[in-house]
Amino acid sequence: MIEDDLDLGNGIRIALSEQGMDVTWVRQLHDAFRILDSGQCELVVLDLGLPDGDGLNLLKDLRRDKKTVPIIIVSARDAIKDRLSGLDSGADDYLAKPFVLAELVSRVRALARRSYGFDSDSLELRGLLLHMPTRRVRVNGNLAELTPSEYTILSAMLIRADRVVTRRILEELALPGHQGNISNTLDVHMTNLRRKIGDGYIRTVRGVGFVMDLMPPVNSARK
Ligand code: CA
Repeated sequence: MIEDDLDLGNGIRIALSEQGMDVTWVRQLHDAFRILDSGQCELVVLDLGLPDGDGLNLLKDLRRDKKTVPIIIVSARDAIKDRLSGLDSGADDYLAKPFVLAELVSRVRALARRSYGFDSDSLELRGLLLHMPTRRVRVNGNLAELTPSEYTILSAMLIRADRVVTRRILEELALPGHQGNISNTLDVHMTNLRRKIGDGYIRTVRGVGFVMDLMPPVNSARK
């Protein structure tokens, strides 16, 4: 997310994090270029009026370099000609400020779906079903009552299935602003989550984080 307005940026960061997304927030074009060069972003939320220039230039540069990362513009420039120039420059969507955060979340999810082929609002893995609009989780058809932190951990793990999710990412997503022994708190949530969804889904990678396994464990010794 590239946004220099602190209140709005904070709102967007929280709203997207609650969906299990891992948000990197920068406030200047200069930092955006640096992070996008790393190639690790899967979607960009781009403001246009930034302290060190016009977001449109970033967009044009990326497209000129054949970078296809999906981009949604959020801008106070809401004239038709501004929208058209954003879309013509290679943006995938354009949302005029002010907007309701829920609409941005919907559009980001829709754009991610179009770009990465998710064909529904649900994430599913081996009998585990997570329905994002209602935040309901079912295990083999049975509703699992998860706390907000457990839900956030589970959605973050499912979105990144088969990849190691670091403790740091889970702590930032599920325990923002947490005081005290954060590591211990994450372990408590993880223990409760595993008890509710069953063993055999989330595997500990010692000293690093956790993996949502695509296949069931081959023996009961694995946790
Ligand atoms: Ca701005």
